[in-house]
Amino acid sequence: MASIREEPEPIAITAPAPRRSRQARVRWGSRVVTLGGAAPVRVQSMTNTDTVDVAASVAQVKALAAAGSELVRLTVNTPEAAAALPHIREQLDRSGVDVPLVGDFHYNGHRLLAEFPAMARALSKYRINPGNVGRGDKKDRQFAAMIETAIAHDKPVRIGVNWGSLDQELLAALMDDNARRAQPFEARQVMYEALVQSALSSAAFARELGLDPDQIVISCKVSGVQDLISVYRALARRCDYALHLGLTEAGMATKGTVASAAALAILLQEGIGDTIRVSLTPQPGEARTQEVAVALEILQSLGLRRFNPSVTACPGCGRTTSTTFQELAKQIDDFLRAQMPLWKARYPGVEGLKLAVMGCIVNGPGESKHADIGISLPGTGEAPAAPVFIDGAKALTLRGAGIAQEFQKVVEDYIERRYGAAAASP
Ligand code: SF4
Repeated sequence: MASIREEPEPIAITAPAPRRSRQARVRWGSRVVTLGGAAPVRVQSMTNTDTVDVAASVAQVKALAAAGSELVRLTVNTPEAAAALPHIREQLDRSGVDVPLVGDFHYNGHRLLAEFPAMARALSKYRINPGNVGRGDKKDRQFAAMIETAIAHDKPVRIGVNWGSLDQELLAALMDDNARRAQPFEARQVMYEALVQSALSSAAFARELGLDPDQIVISCKVSGVQDLISVYRALARRCDYALHLGLTEAGMATKGTVASAAALAILLQEGIGDTIRVSLTPQPGEARTQEVAVALEILQSLGLRRFNPSVTACPGCGRTTSTTFQELAKQIDDFLRAQMPLWKARYPGVEGLKLAVMGCIVNGPGESKHADIGISLPGTGEAPAAPVFIDGAKALTLRGAGIAQEFQKVVEDYIERRYGAAAASP
């Protein structure tokens, strides 16, 4: 066999590029959520309850916040919804849930914000869609009215452009200009330009009206992965506002999850994006919190944030003909997630724990040694024993029907030793 005698070159260790945006602050009471600059990439979500239904909206905001959403947006589309908003805020406050609420406005936001000052105060941020603030001479007046309310209440604003409601007057003007070029751009490129210009010219107008640039967040959402990447690369080149990132109308289940992960991962790796939302269409009966779970996984997978201990599990193969291995991997993962609300408070740093649950001897011991705790289950035909590795060394072997429970106990003891009060005391 030919041998390779080349001197190895150091292989670059990749990491997300640093972000260079301004930092916006979203406040409620003593809670301050920073967006942009050196702040962690934040996770947002949006309710799908009728905002008028205070009890249902409160319950869903609580669930989204408990799942890890750091800002929750609600639609404020009618006078009834605007009137309900302060009650939602009040009930959340009474329950000790201080997650900032964002109001989503289209068409009538200027009127609702003026007529319902308690709603304007109860919100921590306003989302304004420049494509839906009015037509003709009303457009600037109505946009200005919303920005002036934001300034009066000291609230940041997200100028949120969406290609489904792109400013048609601007798009038509850019298309006309393009037609006069000697070498016209593709229609898609003109559409990208319209999205970016709609956001940036609205931000410039908001600043002329007196809004602090640190109170401005920008988004330009589209539903195609390559379109999103093109538009956000342009935005990041042309402004330093904090950017809210998300694939709009991502779709359901696997398609929506994968498309969001593909688009967001590329941009986040390039240092583009300060706050994200995964816009999943829930499947019938699926919890709204699924979009938050996916957002957390995207950030954790990229190494941008840590929320939960990670479980490395092999996919299984012909060496794992029983379901024991799959059941154990799921049991451990479920156990960790169920314990996290308690563990987060009791064991600082536990979210960095790494576990491995492997199906056989081929990669089991090796992968287990890379984890803090790993178990290598017996594959088909192997001796019925499961070696457990702790901090890279074989620590014990489990056997019999109670492997899952015994392994959980090993994990709990390890967490207590490593992250518990005794470990923290000098
Ligand atoms: S570790 Fe074993 S069971 Fe798991 S995929 Fe590899 S060979 Fe198959």
